Amino acid sequence: MKTLRPRNFASDNNAPICPEAWEAMQEANDGHVPAYGSDSLTDKACEAIRDIFETDCEVFFVFNGTAANSLSLASLCRSYHSVICHELAHIETDECGAPEFYSGGSKILVVQSNDGKVPPDAVEATVHRRDDLHYPKPKVVSITQSTEVGTLYTPAELQNLGALTHGLGLHLHLDGARFANALAALRCSPKEITWRAGVDVLCLGGTKNGLAVGEAVVFFNKELAKEFEFRCKQAGQLCSKMRYLSAPWLGILKDGAWLRHAEHANKCATRLSSGLSNIPGVQILFPTEANAVFAKLDDRVISGLYARGWEFYDFIAAGGSRLMCSWDTTESDVDDFIGDVQDLTKSSEDHSESHPVLRH
Ligand SMILES: *Cc1c(COP(=O)(O)O)cnc(C)c1O
Repeated sequence: MKTLRPRNFASDNNAPICPEAWEAMQEANDGHVPAYGSDSLTDKACEAIRDIFETDCEVFFVFNGTAANSLSLASLCRSYHSVICHELAHIETDECGAPEFYSGGSKILVVQSNDGKVPPDAVEATVHRRDDLHYPKPKVVSITQSTEVGTLYTPAELQNLGALTHGLGLHLHLDGARFANALAALRCSPKEITWRAGVDVLCLGGTKNGLAVGEAVVFFNKELAKEFEFRCKQAGQLCSKMRYLSAPWLGILKDGAWLRHAEHANKCATRLSSGLSNIPGVQILFPTEANAVFAKLDDRVISGLYARGWEFYDFIAAGGSRLMCSWDTTESDVDDFIGDVQDLTKSSEDHSESHPVLRH
């Protein structure tokens, strides 16, 4: 019989709603207010985001990251333009062609590296490869922070990429589905790793941070936000009862809950990564810098873990087993997992485990 576990490592999207977001939603649930974003809670949530980034930016709330990315990219590009990103970028691998669809044909041009980050020289090479009218004209560099393999761009790396991108006449787009995890890990100010580094638009993730639903599209370059509300509406991304999409942001931004949750998830990942790295035969595939751990585990260990009720993905990004920590991961979840890997590693060494061991 498979053990039922209340929490797992499959995805930070599998976690429930954090209490701060839940309470904010409850508080918002009072009386009639104007729809479609004309309410005071939505105004306050936009203002809270401006305060955090210490600048006058344009803020829009949409339902999910795919919409945030693809609609913002569409507003940065014309149909004959292209977007340069890492080959593992969510916009390339996990959005079902939505960026191409909403931009009416903009092409994604991928670059490679071993750490999930877009290398500056690859951006230059991609832009300079061709300048004739048969090539989809590069217009945007899109990066992900933290990256799809759980690594981070340092503030200096971002500044360097931002300067290069703008120097080439391109815009810089940041997929921040896990921006909170990056910020909590880097311990810098939000502006330092966004507009000060040249980021034109940020897709600020709320869902993986603990919201029920919702991401914020933050335009630091306000020119680029022109008519963005029409794109949202056309794409079915304008929430009519907007207060329920915006109020939870107030809940998590107030008193820094968003960063506490992200920091907690990061700490769990660090604990998991160091515990696993001490087990002979286990290899950690990427530096654990945010809330993701990628580990190379033996096939017998993997099937043993599944049999014990653990869940995680083996198909994400560059391979290995991806273990995601979230705001509600506990230290004992981490320690139990490490203990099971140790246990299964030992038993697969003495080949005594022809059948998965049943416990509990
Ligand atoms: C989860 C995620 C998104 C958002 O995905 P949706 O399922 O559309 O909300 C975007 N970018 C990255 C890097 C992600 O991990």
